[in-house]
Amino acid sequence: MSADPPTEVAAALEGVTKVYGQGDAAVHALRGVDLQLHAGEVAVVLGPSGSGKTTMLNILGGIETPTAGTVMIAGQDLAGRDPEDLAAIRRDNVAFVFQFFNLIQTLTAAENVRVIAELTGKGTGSDLDDRVHEAMGSVGLLEAADRFPGQISGGQQQRVAIARAMVTRPRLMLCDEPTGALDLERGREVLALLQQAAKRDGRCVVIVTHNSGIATMADVVVRVHDGVLAAVSRQEPGSAAEVEW
Ligand code: ADP
Ligand code: MG
Repeated sequence: MSADPPTEVAAALEGVTKVYGQGDAAVHALRGVDLQLHAGEVAVVLGPSGSGKTTMLNILGGIETPTAGTVMIAGQDLAGRDPEDLAAIRRDNVAFVFQFFNLIQTLTAAENVRVIAELTGKGTGSDLDDRVHEAMGSVGLLEAADRFPGQISGGQQQRVAIARAMVTRPRLMLCDEPTGALDLERGREVLALLQQAAKRDGRCVVIVTHNSGIATMADVVVRVHDGVLAAVSRQEPGSAAEVEW
């Protein structure tokens, strides 16, 4: 039985295709994808390597443009916008979390979070300090705030990356294999934080993975196969398993 989804549409794809290259070398990474994602939900995107998951995530976040079709973020159609306009929509709505954390090695954990808050114009002075403190606190890393990425574990680095994403208060948190470089326990911590971002803060959290075990925490499970959404199953509200840590 399919449940009524929560109301606010955070992002949507309609008839999205993506072709890389041309002629004999053309790769059809996405072949007509329709998807609606909502505030407060966790979507888990599953599929084998090369099926188009990363392409879909990057198009959802406006860092790649589709060959055809419509992309909407927070009700705004991305088609035909100039780069500055597109950057503004991304800055106001989207944050990414990557497999290998992508922290700036020469900045401390807190500085990695702070620099993104600054660059996205999210507060100044003491308001900025408060935001950084809140984000570091929400991932349980206040004590590691002054350490450099090379001085903390992979799990802690990914929690910094999540704080960096959360500090901008994004509508959409797009996570590409966020537990791919972590052991089971550290991965569970990361998933619990991502689920909290959806359930407590109302963010739309998209988690790309090839670990089908992660699907139990999802409100929506999206299965990608060879550039096509083979299945989209929406769970009853409240039925997704809570990730414990
Ligand atoms: P997944 O994340 O599921 O592993 P991707 O979205 O990365 O899949 O890739 C989908 C397909 O598109 C693959 O065949 C991949 O080789 C191809 N592809 C992805 N990015 C590019 C690119 N920049 N140029 C050419 N082909 C690409
Ligand atoms: Mg990928």
